[in-house]
Parts: sequence; C-alpha cells; structure tokens
Amino acid sequence: MSHPNPGSTPRTRVRRLPEKAAQDRAALHAVLDAGLVAHVAITTEDGRPFVLPVAYARDGERVLIHGSTGSRLFRGLAAGAPTCLTVTLLDGVVVARSAFESSMHYRSAMVLGACTVVPEQDKATALDLITDRLLPGRRDELRPHRPKELAATLVLALTLDETSVKISDSPPDDEDDDLDTPIWAGVVPITEHFGEPVSAPDLRFDIAPPHYLRTWTR
Ligand SMILES: Cc1cc2nc3c(=O)[nH]c(=O)nc-3n(C[C@H](O)[C@H](O)[C@H](O)COP(=O)(O)OP(=O)(O)OC[C@H]3O[C@@H](n4cnc5c(N)ncnc54)[C@H](O)[C@@H]3O)c2cc1C
Repeated sequence: MSHPNPGSTPRTRVRRLPEKAAQDRAALHAVLDAGLVAHVAITTEDGRPFVLPVAYARDGERVLIHGSTGSRLFRGLAAGAPTCLTVTLLDGVVVARSAFESSMHYRSAMVLGACTVVPEQDKATALDLITDRLLPGRRDELRPHRPKELAATLVLALTLDETSVKISDSPPDDEDDDLDTPIWAGVVPITEHFGEPVSAPDLRFDIAPPHYLRTWTR
C-alpha cells in the first residue's frame, strides 16, 4: 500500500518557511529513526490538551508506542482520539546578528491521525521491536515478557499516512543592513552522545557492561 508523501495534505502542507519542508518519505523515515522520544498530543473529553513524551519505534509505515493500560491518556488514544505526534531533533543554535533572526537548526516530523490498538497476539512482537529500537542488542539477553507485563501494557500504532517534515540547516539569514554590525554570527552545533555506562548499584555479579553498548551511537 502506498502512503502519501510528507506535506501532501491540506493540513500538513508547510506554509511558514516552506523551503524548509522535506517532501520525501526517506526524509520522514530518517527523522523518525534518529529520534528516541516522541511527543503525542491528546485532547481530553473536557477539551483540555495534553502532550505526552514517549519512547517510540518506527515499524515500516507506522510508529509504535506503548504505555500502561492504566494511563488515562493512553486509554484515550486507544479509543481512537485524534492525535498529533512529533519528533524533534535539535542540531544547533543559529546566532544571527539580531535576536529576531536567531533560531535553531532542527529536523522535525509531525504525524497526524488516530492510533489503533495492536492486537493481543501481536503485542509481544511489537514490544520486542520497540526494545530492539531503543536497546539494540539487548533482547537476546532478556527473559520473555511475563503475561502480567503484557496484560498491563497497551501497544498503539499510528500509521504514517498524514505527515510533514521540516528541516532547518541554513546559516543565519540576516537583514542586509545588519550585515555591517561588527558582531560574530554563525551556528553553534548541538551534538548528543551516549556516555560511559554506569553499573547498577545492586548488580550481584561481577559483569562488565555488554559489548553491544559500544555500538550505540547518537
Ligand atoms: C526546535 C524547534 C524550534 C522552533 N522554534 C520556533 C519558535 O521559537 N518560533 C516559531 O514561530 N517557530 C519555531 N519553530 C518552527 C515551528 O515548529 C513551526 O514550524 C512554525 O512556528 C510555523 O508554524 P505554523 O503553524 O504557522 O506552520 P504552518 O506552515 O502553517 O503549518 C502547516 C503544517 O506544516 C507542518 N509543520 C509546521 N511546522 C512543522 C514542524 N516544525 N515540523 C514538521 N511539520 C511542521 C504541519 O503539518 C502543519 O500542520 C521551531 C521548530 C523547531 C523544530
């Protein structure tokens, strides 16, 4: 089944600074695959908006999220409440010659739609996929999910049908009459990285951090 390109519906067409819009699905996948945290919006019955930060994993043309069956907001999403999921990667601070033109380098993706509940028989596989995405290499060492853990977890899927991507990676774009201002301008990159593993204080065996942690990169 084909999925529309990012920005191809009236609701997702980037109007503000459209030159920053990316319209190919590869760009959408790349942003989603580079992030670890998504923000998922829901409007509750009394009309109040909430935004939940959650771990997620892309599974082909859908995003998987999981949460407690006791979570009011997850239950609302499971019931099909309309949602908007965003992933934001911060790449730098743009230091322009005016405060007005100063901004950020970023890659961000937005997905509109409604979640569906991953059926019981597919839940463990979906949770394994989330584990593989967030903790690559770990699953081979882990015990199987316990029935009570599966029963306590809702897994939701949001298809990548209505999406948009915006990428900001340009140098400062100052007004001509600001270019003569004798102050520095440029971009300060932001990089994210994993630090040295810290062993749990209740580790009962003399075990070094596993080798696959060395392959984790940001
Ligand atoms: C880290 C970061 C910091 C930002 N800081 C600011 C700020 O301080 N002030 C500010 O005004 N804007 C900021 N932006 C840009 C902001 O996200 C919006 O793009 C911008 O405000 C225009 O909003 P709009 O509703 O007028 O866009 P429109 O172009 O009218 O939005 C139409 C559609 O375009 C898509 N779209 C819009 N923005 C994005 C996006 N960022 N990512 C993916 N799809 C998008 C959506 O599908 C949306 O429905 C920032 C973005 C990022 C990622």
